[in-house]
Amino acid sequence: CGIVGYVGTQSAQDVVVAGLKRLEYRGYDSAGVAILADGGMAAAKKAGKLLNLEKELKDRPLPAGNTGIGHTRWATHGGPTDANAHPHLDNAGRVAVVHNGIIENFAALREELAGRGHDLASETDTEVVAHLLAEAYSSGGDLAEAMRQVCRRLEGAFTLVAVHADEPDAVVGARRNSPLVVGVGEGEVFLASDVAAFIAHTRSAIELGQDQVVELRRDGFTVTGFDGLPADVREYHVDWDASA
Ligand code: GLU
Repeated sequence: CGIVGYVGTQSAQDVVVAGLKRLEYRGYDSAGVAILADGGMAAAKKAGKLLNLEKELKDRPLPAGNTGIGHTRWATHGGPTDANAHPHLDNAGRVAVVHNGIIENFAALREELAGRGHDLASETDTEVVAHLLAEAYSSGGDLAEAMRQVCRRLEGAFTLVAVHADEPDAVVGARRNSPLVVGVGEGEVFLASDVAAFIAHTRSAIELGQDQVVELRRDGFTVTGFDGLPADVREYHVDWDASA
């Protein structure tokens, strides 16, 4: 339902949780974050209000890092439980993904992954993406390219945002029939399903086009189509008052 991604110099957890709060008005049933730190990845997710997640983060703090993603979920596949909340991780715990929308062909993909020995821990359509990304990444070592490969296999409507512990300074996003916006700051870049999530930090935005993948780095970003060809982007200024 709500998606936030961040790479920069601030505490990724603070930026992501604050961003998720700005998206609360859309309604949701669970929330979670993943932070890249100390060469690894740490995640926390909880059913219920953001307050539950914030309490969890207080009781069991994640290591501090400057790259992270977060999600507020409106369940479509699998009930609103901690296990079904996003982010979803691969079995090695190196990839984390958050997702808005529905992956229509998830059942066939689940079966395929189970056949290759993957252990799926949730009832969501989303989880297949974490496992597929881990496989695609292991063959090329490039998260944006892995995302393009995986997206070409997916049917349905989706915004996906992912991180990999081997690329601690990158956040990768993709979209089809579901919105995703990049916010460009100085030495920091944001990614969200709605500009409201990052408007407190920057008003310079880029709306991703259909079937595009974006790779964020601290000093900028790159957009391609699912086919890997470079895509044209148009930066615009968000001038409406989002403080309400
Ligand atoms: N289909 C996914 C799920 O049920 C994502 C739902 C959403 O858009 O929040 O977990």
